[in-house]
Amino acid sequence: MINISKPLFTLLCCGIIASCGKPPVGPPTVQPNLLMVTFDTLRADHLGAYGSEAGLTPNFDALAAQSVMFENAYAVSSTTGPSHLTMFSGLYPNEHGVLKNAVEVSDDVVTISEHLRDNGYNTAAFVSSYVLTAQFGLSQGFDEFDEDFNLKRRRSGSYTIEAASDWIAGQPNDKPWCVWVHLMDPHKPYVQPTEYLEPYITPDLIGNDLDKASYNGAVAYTDSVLPGLMAAISAQEASAGTLMAITADHGELFGEHGHFGHGRDLFEDAVRAPLLLKHLSLEPQRIDTTVGLVDFAPTILELLKMPPMQDISGISLALMIPDSTQRVSRPVFMQRRIFDEQGVKELFDETGVNVAGPQWAVIADGYKLTVAPEANEESLFNLAVDPGENNDLTVSDKDTLLKMRKVLSEILDSQTLRVRSTDLSPEVLQNLEQLGYAK
Ligand SMILES: [Zn+2]
Repeated sequence: MINISKPLFTLLCCGIIASCGKPPVGPPTVQPNLLMVTFDTLRADHLGAYGSEAGLTPNFDALAAQSVMFENAYAVSSTTGPSHLTMFSGLYPNEHGVLKNAVEVSDDVVTISEHLRDNGYNTAAFVSSYVLTAQFGLSQGFDEFDEDFNLKRRRSGSYTIEAASDWIAGQPNDKPWCVWVHLMDPHKPYVQPTEYLEPYITPDLIGNDLDKASYNGAVAYTDSVLPGLMAAISAQEASAGTLMAITADHGELFGEHGHFGHGRDLFEDAVRAPLLLKHLSLEPQRIDTTVGLVDFAPTILELLKMPPMQDISGISLALMIPDSTQRVSRPVFMQRRIFDEQGVKELFDETGVNVAGPQWAVIADGYKLTVAPEANEESLFNLAVDPGENNDLTVSDKDTLLKMRKVLSEILDSQTLRVRSTDLSPEVLQNLEQLGYAK
């Protein structure tokens, strides 16, 4: 009879020695790993699991069928930097202070990666876009931050996933890891291999029609890289499993409401995001409650049974997951990026959209109010019957308008501002006051 020492016996039982190329350094961790995947510019409605019939995303859809899927999740902004930082910090843009891309994150903003590193996780990030590079501070909390771009300002998903897979394969089994993978593929310009773009493009397409068709190919491409990441996780064989959190930072507009791209507004196609949570302990299900990605980090931490982050606006949605009738229902707040550069306020961007001053939106009880006080714009939609946001109710439904203004006002008042009200011009403050937002 072979005499096996207890630690070695444990490792053999877990299959780790047989399946893993690296030397085990201790008993396997009982803490789950965490894989966060953020797709850049991925519209929820282009995913099969979210209702698309275009067949672009078989891999995502297969994952969704095995996951807790939030059907109505919203990014806080349609701009990459602010949106990611809100996900990772549980703070609204006014609270973390990053109101547009390429603004350095303040050291006193704590992110989920810092929190997990401080609680014993090895951490690494693999990003695919210049706007998320370490110089702007989203690297804080990551032991390794990989931004080795093969193109000047971005890299394609296959390279990002290859780098992440290599790092995961090199991890010891006695310490949990946290990995963030950011995939840029659905973002313009569409530079995917021709075999992905060709099925959607015909020679007669130009301009926005060409962009719209190419976007389908880009989404199909980004979906095609997912299996590589899944393979890296399954090779890792952690006994506690890996919690996967998959989402997007914002969507994209292709002429809806006369707008294009993202960052200028908070229309549904610009802010609706997929949200999947997958772990062997979670029963696959769909949850239709409207939620905001400000709750991303606190929800993950509760599912990992880690201590919560302190003094944040995000809350855990974990209560809903074992039983979706337990709703964590509260208003969802959004805020557009700011457009003033070096103190010069822009009034209109290059597409003619009024981008003066702040723009906020709130969704509550099925209604969505969007307000841009400096541009003197306000709209109210009943998303339950008008998901395309075509029938403005600001004139016809004053009762709901007043109620929604109050909801928005309360959320803004509750935010601990890193961007102080003194940063706003007297005109803005006056407009805010007239609308009932400023104290
Ligand atoms: Zn983005």
